[in-house]
Amino acid sequence: MNDNNEGNINSILFEKREILNITPISTLSRQISEINLNNSDNNDDEGDIVLPHTKRRSSVLRRMSVGYQIDDNQKLKTKLDIFTDTNDELYKRSNSNTPNCKINDFEKLKVLGQGAYGKVILVKNKYNGKLFAQKELKKASIIINNKNIERTLSERTILSKITSHQNIVKLFYALHDNSKLYLLMEFIPGGELFKYLIKENFLNEKSSCFYIIQMSMALNFLHKFGIVYRDLKPENCMLDKDGYLILTDFGLAKKSTDDQDDNNWCNSIIGTPEYAAPEVLKGENYGSLADWWSLGCVLFDLLTGNPPFTGNNHQKIINKVLKEKPKYPFHLMTSSKELLNKLLNKNIDKRFNVDDNWISYQKFSFFRHYKFKDIENRNIEPPIKPIINNLENAENFDIEFTNMKISDLNGDLNVDSNINDNDCFNGFSYTASNSFMDSYLK
Ligand code: ATP
Ligand code: MG
Repeated sequence: MNDNNEGNINSILFEKREILNITPISTLSRQISEINLNNSDNNDDEGDIVLPHTKRRSSVLRRMSVGYQIDDNQKLKTKLDIFTDTNDELYKRSNSNTPNCKINDFEKLKVLGQGAYGKVILVKNKYNGKLFAQKELKKASIIINNKNIERTLSERTILSKITSHQNIVKLFYALHDNSKLYLLMEFIPGGELFKYLIKENFLNEKSSCFYIIQMSMALNFLHKFGIVYRDLKPENCMLDKDGYLILTDFGLAKKSTDDQDDNNWCNSIIGTPEYAAPEVLKGENYGSLADWWSLGCVLFDLLTGNPPFTGNNHQKIINKVLKEKPKYPFHLMTSSKELLNKLLNKNIDKRFNVDDNWISYQKFSFFRHYKFKDIENRNIEPPIKPIINNLENAENFDIEFTNMKISDLNGDLNVDSNINDNDCFNGFSYTASNSFMDSYLK
């Protein structure tokens, strides 16, 4: 995207800010920008961000995260101390070592994806042949504002601590050189659940139940540690080689800190509007209940092929989330509607609090298809089994990314690994413990 286009989008976001009285802290993703520019001729909603009007979602309509900061006077200090928060229970579970490798030890094989904040590349360790998904973020573009720094640090910090849940992506290394940050995660070869949803259009209740149970277990685990995920959507749910679900993308996840009155709330408008809870869009304080609303939206999406509140621009989507009741298609089963009604309650006091009622939640008729324990123990044959012939070919990823030329990505081979002493990302590096690596990287 050239500077001109970026200016265009920024002015559109500025208009939107006036409507919502909020300040954008990130420009929209490349995809939304391009979609908008391609549609600028027939844009009759001046000031809105217009998405192409399609009945059915297409891969172009991958929903990208957008972040807003409500109070631009609010000083967002970079909390580098989060790296060394030794009293934190999660910190005690992780075992951070000094990295014993450098970024040049990894050969780039394929581009796997591009999110709002950076590329994700399949890389191979030149010495032991192990594969990783490497998420790259340019320091220069992160430094533009403090909120981005915070977001990046929080992804590294949260991932390095959450090492023990089977439905959450594992982080093995965090590295940086003078220009970029790198998160080396486990490579999840089955691709995005989103891809299968497009192919199938929608899933039946039993298949949806298989994935919703795993999302619920992951969210409940995060919430126990005070982490709100904030960006649940099918694009951030991936399938491992067997077809079990893995949650990725912790760029928006937030650990509540003790300096807040109520230690379980956040107040930034962040996430993907179609899946964001009303309290999030209104800029109110919110906590883990917002994730359960998003789960309701994902459930609706799995069962029908679209999230409950859609529209051809963000303002319309936001209005619907705030005001409209979801319309259930006739084919939805009563058990699905029952769970949807519990989760998609706009009033947080009436929304079902899954974390506080974890046992009774599992007894909802929607979950009759499986026992949570059986899924946890991986005793179930997943409804979708990814086809993987050669891991290095990344067959389950969009060719829009995997066909990108790797040579174009190797521009920074002569990267200067000398990092300035006052680089604000010092402390970012991390290596998981050897035993942890050995247990996952067979
Ligand atoms: P956004 O905020 O817009 O969702 P992002 O910039 O935070 O995006 P991610 O969602 O983390 O980026 O990654 C972008 C894409 O890269 C994912 O949707 C997925 O297709 C791919 N990807 C991410 N992590 C992995 C992984 N561990 N293994 C395989 N592919 C991955
Ligand atoms: Mg993502």
